[in-house]
Amino acid sequence: KIRFDGITKDFGDTSVIRNFDAEVPDEEFLVLLGPSGCGKSTMLRMIAGLTDISGGSLEFDGVRVNGLEPRERRVAFVFQSYALYPHMTVRANIAFPLLMSRFRWYHHFPVVNRLMRRRFLRDPSVREKVEEVAAMMELTGQLDRRPKTLSGGQRQRVAVARALVREPSLYLLDEPLSNLDAKLRTQMRAEISALYQRVRKSFVYVTHDQVEAMTMGTRIIVMNEGVIQQYGTPKEIYDRPANTFVARFIGSPP
Ligand code: ATP
Ligand code: MG
Repeated sequence: KIRFDGITKDFGDTSVIRNFDAEVPDEEFLVLLGPSGCGKSTMLRMIAGLTDISGGSLEFDGVRVNGLEPRERRVAFVFQSYALYPHMTVRANIAFPLLMSRFRWYHHFPVVNRLMRRRFLRDPSVREKVEEVAAMMELTGQLDRRPKTLSGGQRQRVAVARALVREPSLYLLDEPLSNLDAKLRTQMRAEISALYQRVRKSFVYVTHDQVEAMTMGTRIIVMNEGVIQQYGTPKEIYDRPANTFVARFIGSPP
């Protein structure tokens, strides 16, 4: 369960999130929906622990996580610009979070880094885990390639596989499909929904695309200018928009 209790975020004297209150049960696919600049990414980064919460309290399963580091929160994130490591193979990219969770210090030493990585990637338990998530994302044949030789959709799947590998309890995705063409976007939408059905964990998915929100979300928070406009199921929001902003944004019938 995720509980947002009066969360606020200020950058200097600009307030970008105000009075953000919501309770989200486990295993929901929550979509944060709203126009550009409304604070979606900022909210997601606060959930991830990548930026401080200015006020209020954020709880996972009754535990306040405000001050916790990202790796202490058991979250995985996929960003809009899915930054893969270009010099590493797909296999190494996917395994990277596992490597980081075992060795935190080593990345300061490039030579050790390469050696450790090679040895690590041959470890049978690592191989098995990487191959399992690669199979889930249909990347089995691509493990020894480098990101720049992959298509946009394949890269996107590598980014998702990398998020899956640590078996997080919360998946955070920030407009992960925005760089893809329409056809791939539709396909990846279905793949992410299928992934959600399979793993049955909690997701928070950021988008400004109503169709994406409606087709993928089990719950939607509609935001505007840092304020929640409505929180509900797709059907509730579509059938009974709370105000004209929501109605216009969703495109519900008048
Ligand atoms: P988009 O759909 O375009 O990605 P968004 O809803 O994700 O938009 P945010 O990136 O969360 O929007 O930004 C919300 C507001 O906070 C914007 O007005 C932005 O300019 C401001 N903002 C974000 N990050 C910072 C920062 N580091 N310093 C100052 N202002 C920031
Ligand atoms: Mg954003």
